[in-house]
Amino acid sequence: FGKSRPAPCVHDRHLSSLVPECNVAILGCRGSGKSALTVKFLTKRFISEYDPNLEDTYASEEVVDQQPVLMKVMDTADQLLRGCLDVLPSSASRYLNWANAFIVVYSINNRKSFENAQLEAPVLLIGNKLDMEQYRQVTKAEGISVATKYGTLFYEVSACQDFKSVQHVFHEAVREARRE
Ligand code: GDP
Ligand code: MG
Repeated sequence: FGKSRPAPCVHDRHLSSLVPECNVAILGCRGSGKSALTVKFLTKRFISEYDPNLEDTYASEEVVDQQPVLMKVMDTADQLLRGCLDVLPSSASRYLNWANAFIVVYSINNRKSFENAQLEAPVLLIGNKLDMEQYRQVTKAEGISVATKYGTLFYEVSACQDFKSVQHVFHEAVREARRE
């Protein structure tokens, strides 16, 4: 992360008492861009190199549809591929019990990451690395098809392109949690 790494969320009881909270867990294969998207959302910047083992939760006060919300974003970093949730409920429970919404990320230039994304039901399905169009392995239609199957929202974005579409994804997670 270097200098641009956002400060991890500490005890923010004083904040949480003021505004409703929304806990969002970012899941998906290693290398799909979970950290890049999280940091882009928090800092508007693309940082290309992260420690793949780093797992942190960040807090950000957001306004979604004119309503303030304290978003807590858990950028997960499981060693194991998705699909191990059944086998390792204890390890997964740290976010399964915590999150109000899940964003499942795959990269459009990595079919394996897409196949693994289908092993858990996302709240939002995100095809990342849209800038890698020339190396695309997963079509947009395939993403739409899986999203339809799960009844979830689906977007293709890039952590290294415009901030607005990345912010939109995170705000959609808040909207989904509010609908629950
Ligand atoms: P994580 O393991 O899911 O947290 O993935 P990272 O966020 O660490 O990203 C893995 C690699 O993909 C890094 O080298 C990033 O620079 C790169 N990356 C992440 N998002 C994008 C993107 O939108 N476009 C491109 N071209 N590379 C990306
Ligand atoms: Mg990461």
